[in-house]
Amino acid sequence: MTYDAGNVFARILRGEIPCGKVHETAMSLAFHDINPQAPTHVLVIPKGAYVSWADFSAKASEAEIVDFVRAVGEVARMVGAEAPGYRLLANHGPDSHQEVPHLHVHVFAGRPLGPMLKRPG
Ligand code: 5GP
Repeated sequence: MTYDAGNVFARILRGEIPCGKVHETAMSLAFHDINPQAPTHVLVIPKGAYVSWADFSAKASEAEIVDFVRAVGEVARMVGAEAPGYRLLANHGPDSHQEVPHLHVHVFAGRPLGPMLKRPG
């Protein structure tokens, strides 16, 4: 899948639209989800142009991967979610219902999060 530089997270990275910044590193940015689905719902994105986990895991440099994985862990610590617990989620492609075509990891926390996936039917 070709990267669409007009996607909303690319626009956030360019400073064209605002975000509620939580954390920033050399290669990653974390901000509050605009439509939170838990008391804490933060999105962590790499600054590089990667569509999804598939793209990032295949093409990102080791420095980008280390920075991003550490940023996700640091965000969970910063929001106080390490002791009570949190959930990470990254959607890839149509079956996952990925809406924004720039890799993002959702960090959910702040309440018991229930079953991992909605059961069919
Ligand atoms: P996806 O379904 O692609 O995994 O999740 C996309 C997420 O991006 C959704 O949870 C949605 O609420 C969030 N989102 C979409 N547009 C914006 C925006 O302009 N700003 C922020 N902060 N979050 C957004």
